Amino acid sequence: MTVRHHPDDALLLAYAAGGLDAAMSLILATHLTFCARCRRLVGIHEKIGGALLEDIQPIAMNNDALARVMARLNEPSAPERHQSSNDNTPAPLHAILGRDLSGVRWRKLGPNLGYVTLYRQGPMAVRLLRGAPRTDVGSHSHHGKEYTLVLRGGYTDATGSYGPGDFQVASAELRHNPVADPEEDCINLSVTIGRLNFDNAVQKIVARLFGF
Ligand SMILES: [Zn+2]
Repeated sequence: MTVRHHPDDALLLAYAAGGLDAAMSLILATHLTFCARCRRLVGIHEKIGGALLEDIQPIAMNNDALARVMARLNEPSAPERHQSSNDNTPAPLHAILGRDLSGVRWRKLGPNLGYVTLYRQGPMAVRLLRGAPRTDVGSHSHHGKEYTLVLRGGYTDATGSYGPGDFQVASAELRHNPVADPEEDCINLSVTIGRLNFDNAVQKIVARLFGF
């Protein structure tokens, strides 16, 4: 299965430099378990960063510094960070949950939706979301950015189709209506900054009640 939607370079660079908060580090690290391309890019960023730090000495910037950096870029990339669990739960997520995805106890949000809040800080929330096949989440916009990583199944909205490993960034301006694919439950890891703003009046109330 090929990952088609990736975090942008700025996010990958920030991750490699250790500049992301715990929520964003979790969703990036989990994406990397699916994505060889981004593992390789993060590996390159880490090597460049490490080489630059080593060379911050007055006499160290000699003629072969660039050659040494280039040599490091040709080294094999970091080993795959996919660790096994009984149901192939990505290792960074398993570490937070303390269990496999199949052992998660979902809170119900209507007949077809489940969620678990992993943590919140101010306007930021990290959640697992699960939608039954063909679940229509409902049209909504955002008061801040929403980052979504598909763990199982998939969904489609106006911007495209997303499957396991795919990473979507929804800006505050984007109004979208994700619908789960028909084959199986769609399970996502999401980081939202600010509340969701549903078009539908009932959904607006439910979302407010549940802290979305
Ligand atoms: Zn990627």
